[in-house]
Amino acid sequence: MGEPLESCFAPDLLAGRSALVTGGATGIGKEICRVLGQHGARVAMVSRKEENLRAACDELAAEGIDARWFSADVRDAAAVAQVVAGCADAFGRLDVVVNNAAGNFPVPISGLSPNGFKAVVDIDLLGTYNVTKAAFEASLKEHGGQIVNISAPFEMKGASLQAHVAAAKAGVDSLTRTCAVEFGPYGIRVNAVAPGHISGTEGVRRFSEATGADTSDEHRANNPLGVSGHGQDIAYTVLFLCSPAARFISGQVIAVDGGGTADQLKMGLGRV
Ligand code: NAP
Repeated sequence: MGEPLESCFAPDLLAGRSALVTGGATGIGKEICRVLGQHGARVAMVSRKEENLRAACDELAAEGIDARWFSADVRDAAAVAQVVAGCADAFGRLDVVVNNAAGNFPVPISGLSPNGFKAVVDIDLLGTYNVTKAAFEASLKEHGGQIVNISAPFEMKGASLQAHVAAAKAGVDSLTRTCAVEFGPYGIRVNAVAPGHISGTEGVRRFSEATGADTSDEHRANNPLGVSGHGQDIAYTVLFLCSPAARFISGQVIAVDGGGTADQLKMGLGRV
């Protein structure tokens, strides 16, 4: 995934803390596990495919990170409650929860079935709710912590081929704000990170496949910086949000997209 970026954070920033990352075995989620682990956190990844979970844990363990895995479908509230409680038990407590798991298959509304729409809303939105609620009950309400939801920068715009994803992520953004309000008194901060085009990811690969276009170039042209993001750009934003430097930030959706969201008119002026 692009050029690696050296950390500008203290290596022990999250020492003694533990994090659960859904969808942490692949793509952006794995990069989040890696960066949190490189800064001292013990990390647990939760998703469905055991072969991916094992491979990612082995990869991070070889880098000296305390990484564990739990298999669950985030749509299944009972399974999620069991896994989150098991994770809190294994670590002694849970400090950070990153809701990153998502479904995505680019398709126009004309080709999208009700089941397809529901599947993505269930994974992205209901899954975020299930994991958040379970983590609050199992650990966070006792001592506070941070929740970071991985969204997408669609809330104020339409997004072709993404009706299901855009609707689900708008719900995630709304849930982020409500959780920030309800959980603030427990010392829990809740924020969301909305990635722009992140090169080398499954999401982007599927988009290229569906459109037959070189979406890298298209997205580069679609943000003022003219570049694609790296998984680390999302992971370091999550790390910052989990750090004391972000102690007064809650209920926010932060677009990490090269300025793409700011550039509504796409005037294509370049330098002016
Ligand atoms: P990815 O590699 O496809 O990651 C998705 C992860 O979610 C997988 O590890 C998958 O594992 C897990 N997952 C899917 N359904 C699940 C379920 N029902 N229960 C538990 N886990 C499930 O995707 P990515 O491109 O890195 O995207 C990561 C996040 O960033 C997503 O929230 C996505 O919407 C967001 N995002 C990405 C981009 C981008 O440019 N890539 C842009 C905007 C937003 P299993 O299949 O094994 O369960």
